[in-house]
Amino acid sequence: MKLFQSVLFSISLLFLSGCGGGGPFDIVLEGGRVMDPESRLDGVRNVGIHDGKIKAVTDKKISGKRVIDASGLVVSPGFIDLHDHGQNEEAFRLKALDGVTAAFELEVGTGDIATWYAERGGSQLIHYGVSIGHIPIRMIVMGDAGDFLPSGPAKTKVATEADIVEMVRRFEEGLIQGAVAVGFGIAYTPAATVKEFETMLRVAAKYDASVHIHVRDGLSGLREAIAGAKDTGTALHVVHANSSGAEVTAEFLAIIQEARASGQDVTTEAYPYSASQTYIESALFDDWESWEPARYNTFQWVETGERLNRDSFARYRAAGGAVIIHARTEAMTRTAIESPLTMIASDGLIKDGKGHPRGSGSYARVLGRYVREERVVELMDALRRMTLAPARRLETRVPAMRNKGRMRIGADADFTLFDPETVIDRATYTDGAVSSNGIEYVLINGIPVVDGGKLVEHVRPGRPVRVSQ
Ligand SMILES: [Zn+2]
Repeated sequence: MKLFQSVLFSISLLFLSGCGGGGPFDIVLEGGRVMDPESRLDGVRNVGIHDGKIKAVTDKKISGKRVIDASGLVVSPGFIDLHDHGQNEEAFRLKALDGVTAAFELEVGTGDIATWYAERGGSQLIHYGVSIGHIPIRMIVMGDAGDFLPSGPAKTKVATEADIVEMVRRFEEGLIQGAVAVGFGIAYTPAATVKEFETMLRVAAKYDASVHIHVRDGLSGLREAIAGAKDTGTALHVVHANSSGAEVTAEFLAIIQEARASGQDVTTEAYPYSASQTYIESALFDDWESWEPARYNTFQWVETGERLNRDSFARYRAAGGAVIIHARTEAMTRTAIESPLTMIASDGLIKDGKGHPRGSGSYARVLGRYVREERVVELMDALRRMTLAPARRLETRVPAMRNKGRMRIGADADFTLFDPETVIDRATYTDGAVSSNGIEYVLINGIPVVDGGKLVEHVRPGRPVRVSQ
């Protein structure tokens, strides 16, 4: 009876809202090239949106309270960024203008899930979410005073039994509080033993959480992570195959492919730039005093844009802060972006108008440079790696993701409409906070946040993506 009543109620709502058939819908996206990687639909269609959901995808004429002329534009599910460190207003504005409708901080994550979500107040410009992270938990447990990444005991000290028990407790607390995944940056915590690593992996497996990991250097670091995930039955997502793979990116991807072919759940991602960004005080550069002089010059201090030498490197390392490192070739980047294995994920972090351009331009750059100009990626495949693939990565643990990244009727009305002829990144290594070009409309739950290429002020349709407790 209850079910019958609710069905009746839904039917009457449908009629009341008047969009049982041809409309009027809240918004109609009219005459765009609709591309849906899930159904493989690629054709001119009209899309009807009502109450934040996709209600119609049709070649028939439909009416809406607002009709957006999408002719000449590609209509895609909104882009989902699984690796975004900028989780604030400034970053979200640039993300929206790069076509991103949901951005997740999953590699580093947080040590306190409840506070992290509370700080974002229930709504933001775009959807957002976070992992419970081994790095911040290790920093808390070891008493490391570093900002964002370890700079003291969290990178150098081996954990005691009691430390590991406390880490497990914090991991479980975060997962119970709704963390969408588990984060690891084992390259930043070299003192973490295989035992510590695998103990935390078991916690992730118990909660069906994918582990998003920055592996230790080289192919051996990748093999260590894949073996640990296999032993513990954990789903593994290896972050930035381009920078972790560097000159051995092809082999790096081949190892991941081999694990997948054997039935293991391993995925990966890449960003389309040949420089990286991290913190100068991190464990990655603990051997800095033994470097050849030329190596310092591959470092660019984000605050000033200057290239470093041994003296300035020493000075800034003592102070701490963000550096861009120009250490890879375009060929390495192309290998990672060409591969159908990699999802597109930015690893972005723009702060006070400064930072690596990947935080502002990763998606437009793939679409403009690698799809249109160089033709090394098919458009549909690029979109799959920006939408459906990241949604699927999370959806085992996060049911909300089953309604994102695809254009199914009833799915969330998160859309990115771009001009395939003009879309391109504009941010640079000295001016990282410049928005992309050609992203014409971005809708979040059916609300435009980018409208005619311009950001809409004072709207907050983005919601926390979190596992309900
Ligand atoms: Zn990162």
